[in-house]
Amino acid sequence: MRGAVLHAPGDVRVDNRPDPTIEQPTDAVIRLVAACVCGSDLWPYRGIEPIDGPTPMGHEYVGVVEEVGSEVRDLRPGQFVVGSFFASDNTCDICRAGYQSRCVHAEPMGAIGTQAEYARVPLADGTLVATPGTPSDDLVAGLLAASDVLGTGWFAAVAAEAGPGRTVAVVGDGAVGLLGVLAAKQLGAERIIAFSRHGDRQRLAREFGATDVVTTRGDEGVAEVRELTGGLGAHSTIEAVGTQESMMQAIRATRPGGHVGYVGVSHDVQLPGAELFFSGVHLHGGPAPVRRFLPELIDLITSREIDPGRVFDLTLPLDQAAEGYRAMDERRAIKTLLRP
Ligand SMILES: [Zn+2]
Repeated sequence: MRGAVLHAPGDVRVDNRPDPTIEQPTDAVIRLVAACVCGSDLWPYRGIEPIDGPTPMGHEYVGVVEEVGSEVRDLRPGQFVVGSFFASDNTCDICRAGYQSRCVHAEPMGAIGTQAEYARVPLADGTLVATPGTPSDDLVAGLLAASDVLGTGWFAAVAAEAGPGRTVAVVGDGAVGLLGVLAAKQLGAERIIAFSRHGDRQRLAREFGATDVVTTRGDEGVAEVRELTGGLGAHSTIEAVGTQESMMQAIRATRPGGHVGYVGVSHDVQLPGAELFFSGVHLHGGPAPVRRFLPELIDLITSREIDPGRVFDLTLPLDQAAEGYRAMDERRAIKTLLRP
């Protein structure tokens, strides 16, 4: 089969890779209907995260079940399925508490590489959620978003306790931040302040429910949020970047007693203890347990209540994966959808 492989920084190729097979009785093999390039794929693409030789890429996916192992009970060939970037059994104590991305048997789908024609999905019953029937083609992008960026933005909004009567600030205008706006709106937030310096992203943020846009960042941006909130700061802040600056911006934009939901993958973030102590904010986040939210998100998407697929502003055939990476790296695209 064909699949995207990162050979060196900036060098993505679509190579012939071995066809996946059932390796464990709990596996399924799916035929990918769509996959995409994640902001986190850009870390190794830019050489910031080292790779150890040619590396299959991709961890977001929707597809059709081709084959299931002998112990798979709930899935059958032909079903359209959505999964998250961690395979999980969905039965251990951690999963049942809603933290499937930290399942005691979690396996990263990034190690499998879903920017491909086919993929093996471990722990298929726990990992995959079937849609009601085969969705129409215009729903595929939204369902693909649920696989990571929507599920992650949703978790950030839940972790930040976004809800009725709350003012939510969103740090980060990539796909996760934008869908954090959508999630906060859906959860009933009264006011949503998006940080963004890019016109196209500001427009999408407003369409997803942002009531205010702040174009400055760092302490200047924090001062603007305070000004908009009677000097107090937001009740809830979503952090969707993962740098020192963005994390401190999120903590400082939040009022005492408020909540920060952080989902940007941390790159060398160090929290100053004394400032954290006196901030009085709750911090909760990490790799989003997307699987917890998939059934609800699939319902909202297939009933057309939300349209998270609009974050994809570039669609390419899988064979042009290299251009998909370049466009995101150069910020010409928010998010690239790949069609195998
Ligand atoms: Zn588990």
